[in-house]
Amino acid sequence: MEQIKLKALAKINLGLDVVRKREDGYHEVRMIMQTINMYDKIAIKKIKENAIKVKTNLYYLPNNENNLVYKAAKLLMDEFELEQGVSIDLEKYIPVAAGMAGGSSDAAAVLMGVNKLFKLGLSKKQLMERSVVIGADVPYCIMRGTALAEGIGEKLTPLKPMPKCYILIAKPGISVSTKFVYGNLKVDEIKVHPDIDGMVEAIEEGNLTDITKRMGNVLEEVTIKEYPVIQEIKNIMQENGAINAMMSGSGPTVFGIFTEYEKAQKAHLILNSSNQVKQTYLTSVYNNRR
Ligand code: ATP
Repeated sequence: MEQIKLKALAKINLGLDVVRKREDGYHEVRMIMQTINMYDKIAIKKIKENAIKVKTNLYYLPNNENNLVYKAAKLLMDEFELEQGVSIDLEKYIPVAAGMAGGSSDAAAVLMGVNKLFKLGLSKKQLMERSVVIGADVPYCIMRGTALAEGIGEKLTPLKPMPKCYILIAKPGISVSTKFVYGNLKVDEIKVHPDIDGMVEAIEEGNLTDITKRMGNVLEEVTIKEYPVIQEIKNIMQENGAINAMMSGSGPTVFGIFTEYEKAQKAHLILNSSNQVKQTYLTSVYNNRR
């Protein structure tokens, strides 16, 4: 095998709670993660040279060691002292710096791809263990599906698949740095913590109404204060048939959950013509594990 093509899927957070700030500066979180059917396309080719070449369709993304796909390839090439190298072609569709784990998912795909291409023989578990040094969300991106993520996001408990529904994504024309949001979060002053345990129960029962009732993201307070447009997009989603709408991760992407496709389609058209929104996408949850 000389080449492999992969899909790197995006995630949303159905729930996101921050429990405490650790002494090392990291935040301890409790998040409900869900993979959705929106993805970047990655092609990895073996090359003779011992190098990592990265090409992307977005001019503003790094194509050097600062790209997470580079870091992922290097991690395995170094450990296994590979003599050959790789050329990675990355086609981005997941919005960048948007709270959808785009970069982490790209890294996860490259770990899976390099493992297969060079027949390294690592199990999914072994890849997940190694991947956390690239980013806290990477182990989850290897796993996929519905999961509870604790610790800094790397302690994963697989959950039953999220019931079928439609997900409408809307991103305003701003980028939000995860560092800024966590840096401005005052954990001791969080007024309302989402009921993550209640959501886990609702997921186990397969009850979509109970799941959506418990949606909550403590980072909204920081991000929406800075960018009120996020609240406006949430309102448009809810006024147009979403059973609930929330910011994903540290934002600014908002997602709405719909049970009826026609309603989701109508809301999609409305958001598409709103000058508050830069990018929209109508999709569904993705429940297959790797
Ligand atoms: P998360 O949900 O994990 O917080 P995010 O959506 O906020 O992810 P990403 O899109 O993964 O953030 O990446 C944010 C930053 O990482 C960007 O500023 C970008 O320059 C850098 N980056 C490095 N590699 C990639 C990549 N493959 N795709 C996107 N961004 C990348």
